[in-house]
Amino acid sequence: MAEETIFRKIIDKEIPSETLYQDQYVTAFRDISPQAPVHILIIPNKLIPTANDIQVEDEVLVGKLYTVAKQLAKEEGIAESGYRLIMNCNSDGGQEVYHIHLHLLGGKKLGKLVS
Ligand code: C5P
Repeated sequence: MAEETIFRKIIDKEIPSETLYQDQYVTAFRDISPQAPVHILIIPNKLIPTANDIQVEDEVLVGKLYTVAKQLAKEEGIAESGYRLIMNCNSDGGQEVYHIHLHLLGGKKLGKLVS
C-alpha cells in the first residue's frame, strides 16, 4: 500500500493551500513555490503515486486533470498566450511528491523543457 503524502492533507484541508478547484475526483491549488507567474498543481483526490501506477481504470480520472487544467488556464487568462502541462515521474523526472500531479505553468514565455 502506497504512503500518503502532504497532498492528502491539502485535499483534506488539514493544511492551508490556495485551492482553486475541488470536486469529488480532483483538487487544484497554487504551487507553494511557483516557478512561473501561474503555477498550479492539479491532482486526483485518489492516491496514485507515480505515472507508472496509472491504471486503465484511471483513464477518465487522469483525463479530468487535463480538462480542469485547461479551464484554470482560461480563468487565469493564459489560455491564448499559452502554457505548459507537465507530470514528473520518479527521480530522474524530478518528482518530489509521490502523488501524481499535473503542473500548469504559464504567464511568461517558458524556456526549454529539459535542463
Ligand atoms: O513534480 P514534483 O513532485 O517535483 O512537484 C512537487 C511540487 O509540489 C513542487 O512544485 C512543490 O513546490 C509543490 N508543493 C506544494 N506544496 C507543498 C509541497 C510541495 O505546492 N506543501
